[in-house]
Amino acid sequence: MRVLVLEDEPALREHLARRLRDSGFVVDEAADGVEGEYAGLEFPLDVAIVDLGLPGRPGLDVIRAWRTAGRAFPILILTARDRWQEKVEALQAGADDYVTKPFQFEEVAARLQALLRRSGGWSQPVLRSGDLELDTAAQQVRVEGRAVELTAFEYRLLEYLMLRAGQVVSKAELTEKLYEQDFERDSNVIEVFVGRLRRKLDPEGRLQPIETLRGRGYRVARD
Ligand code: CA
Repeated sequence: MRVLVLEDEPALREHLARRLRDSGFVVDEAADGVEGEYAGLEFPLDVAIVDLGLPGRPGLDVIRAWRTAGRAFPILILTARDRWQEKVEALQAGADDYVTKPFQFEEVAARLQALLRRSGGWSQPVLRSGDLELDTAAQQVRVEGRAVELTAFEYRLLEYLMLRAGQVVSKAELTEKLYEQDFERDSNVIEVFVGRLRRKLDPEGRLQPIETLRGRGYRVARD
């Protein structure tokens, strides 16, 4: 999952970025509205966190510019507690949810997770595909009721595929959504990870939870 953190306060931006990276997100950071607007227009984001009070260009204008240009990723805004008009304006401009400052990271993470889930068309926190279950709140995976231990990367990979269940996800898309920009991007690496994930989920090759579509990518069935 690729998230933009658009926040001008360095300590807050760095804190959010670090915690999100620790949770397995790929993070783009921007400190002013102009830079942030560019990032939202040019990068393949899954979600954006936007502070409304920004130098360069106000957060509200940035949100309007993204929506006018057809960018549909969910937007979580950061606002001061007493600024209700600002929240209303931002929601009307195309933001999807808000967190008031000061906040706990856990609240931001839970709201992001809910936005990502809903943008994938899931209302329940537990995503299901056949005998496969991914609990987005507990970050646990079960196959036929058996818990499966995954690394943080494998979990993010499976979560990405399950959020898009029913759709074909290309290796290129997985690479840009699951790796930091400066990482070596090699689609063979994704094949290796998908192979490992499959062996953990389905050691006997009986359930085939992740389908390969030759030359196109991977798909998890949506029930
Ligand atoms: Ca600010």
